[in-house]
Amino acid sequence: MTKQRKVVYDVLLEDRDHPTAQTIFERSQAKLPTVSLATIYNCLDALVSHQVVRQVNVDREPSRYCANLSEHGHFHDKESGEVLDIKFKPNVSIADFLDLPEGAVIEDLELNIKGFLKTHS
Ligand SMILES: [Zn+2]
Repeated sequence: MTKQRKVVYDVLLEDRDHPTAQTIFERSQAKLPTVSLATIYNCLDALVSHQVVRQVNVDREPSRYCANLSEHGHFHDKESGEVLDIKFKPNVSIADFLDLPEGAVIEDLELNIKGFLKTHS
């Protein structure tokens, strides 16, 4: 792993808030003042293609990035703009509630849920 990739990866591990490339760029500058936004994009592409980072897309908004490699989905809070990790409940297989074609083997799963958090009044 190159030094720059390590910095980008560390930034993603430090704050698990699914930052955009622009935010990762700003956070990386604290550690690597000379880094450019283009370099950040290159590092992110490499990390995503090596499957150590996941790219999370929300409509037409800039992509977010996630370093949580355990199986999980994402909840997009429309009001705060936050993207939260959602774990699958133990002993529940996603295949149990999907009408998959016969013989289908799930290799990769992207679960994106949009909504908002009801606050107690
Ligand atoms: Zn995530």
